[in-house]
Amino acid sequence: MSLPPGHAEAPHWWEAAPRPVLPEQPVPARSDAVIVGSGITGLNAALVLARAGRQVTVFEAGDPGAGASTRNAGYVGRSLKHDYSALLRRHGRAMAAAVYAEMQAANDAVFEVVEAEGIACHLERCGRVVLAHSPRQMRDLAAELALRQEHLGEAHMLLDRAGVAAETGSDRFAGGALIPDLAALHPGLYHAGLLERALAAGVTVLARTPATGVGGERGALRVASTRGSTLAREVLFATNGYTGEGAPGWLRRRVIPFDAWMFATEVLSPNQVAAILPANRTFIDTNHDILFARRSPDGRRILFGGQTGVRPRPVRERAAALHALAASVLPGMAGLRVDQAWTGRCAGTLDLYPHLAERDGVWFAGGYCFAGVPMGTYLGRKAAWQMLGRAEGATHFATRPFPGQPLPEVARRLVPAVMAYWRACDRRAMRAR
Ligand SMILES: Cc1cc2nc3c(=O)[nH]c(=O)nc-3n(C[C@H](O)[C@H](O)[C@H](O)COP(=O)(O)OP(=O)(O)OC[C@H]3O[C@@H](n4cnc5c(N)ncnc54)[C@H](O)[C@@H]3O)c2cc1C
Repeated sequence: MSLPPGHAEAPHWWEAAPRPVLPEQPVPARSDAVIVGSGITGLNAALVLARAGRQVTVFEAGDPGAGASTRNAGYVGRSLKHDYSALLRRHGRAMAAAVYAEMQAANDAVFEVVEAEGIACHLERCGRVVLAHSPRQMRDLAAELALRQEHLGEAHMLLDRAGVAAETGSDRFAGGALIPDLAALHPGLYHAGLLERALAAGVTVLARTPATGVGGERGALRVASTRGSTLAREVLFATNGYTGEGAPGWLRRRVIPFDAWMFATEVLSPNQVAAILPANRTFIDTNHDILFARRSPDGRRILFGGQTGVRPRPVRERAAALHALAASVLPGMAGLRVDQAWTGRCAGTLDLYPHLAERDGVWFAGGYCFAGVPMGTYLGRKAAWQMLGRAEGATHFATRPFPGQPLPEVARRLVPAVMAYWRACDRRAMRAR
């Protein structure tokens, strides 16, 4: 692989959606609602609240959208870390179907928002191909998808080795499945559209203004920041993988951040792109340590990601390792130059569910375990509706106990070890007949 000195350590998405620069504004003395974090979750919540007549102030530590919302792969799916079959076994059909109905609703929420707000972000039902490395992974995938088709009506088509090769240009996979209704978007443009609509709706977005703490004061909440404080009735932490300084202790004990990595190739000819990924879909494998690949929305590059949750390394080193992985499964990637490589932070939870939670007027929506494009859209809006006392805010993800642990720093440091264990499980499953 060639990773030239001039490669950009910035997300591909920032090319079409450069980082917005907002004029510096004073911190208002009072707000109806404060949102900490200006990603997909925060801005979806802000839009609902502002449209309901609330005065909303968003604190953002970096530039707007500096977090994972402009760094992800743009997959819009129904992904949950608990398979439907596992939920069925453990909790019965009613609960499993209810949870998966919400996964579908989260997927639909992206289409609702994009259409209602008129955001041009290449949102397209391009279909997703799920890739199995071994016959055993293929059998497990087929069984899960058959159950979902029967119980939930989710359509899919199984692919043999040749079928996958026709989609990926690679004969390295034992098989796979095409899920035709899953979608993809350009996350930079999605975020830019949300930001523009939120500003137009009167939301105050304070960029480069980290919130440093929240405390009770005369029946309200005082949110302190590096540039002053504001009094608010309610506060939403929409900080997901960037939850840290400034967040209340109960939240930091419940959110486990981890890093994810991606790169974009050099600009390729249409023939090169078609040889590497003949089909314009999103691709993901069945491993715990997922790899994922897609064409860029302009069709000129291949984007690739994986090795999530590994020990942090300089982006340049990680990009080299990722490129080697890409070339091992998509042979056409060998010898290509990496032009852009980047990282971003996601968040998991101890029970591997997303959560919407509230304590003493301080709310949190997050813990999306790598599925925050739909889930952030969905729970951002749900959080706002709950803050407004509206029935649409109801969600299973607000009713589950939100488990915590006493040593957040230790939990964070253990993520690479947990991922190493899952990678060992993956290796066994990839060898199994
Ligand atoms: C490489 C990568 C690929 C991914 N691919 C996908 C995908 O294809 N599909 C999918 O669904 N999900 C994907 N994800 C996950 C998805 O991007 C996230 O789940 C989602 O963006 C979370 O959005 P959010 O708004 O909750 O948080 P973020 O977008 O991470 O925003 C949190 C914000 O909070 C701010 N913040 C934190 N603390 C403070 C403070 N004290 N004061 C002020 N601001 C603060 C941060 O600066 C940050 O901007 C991916 C993530 C990564 C990194």
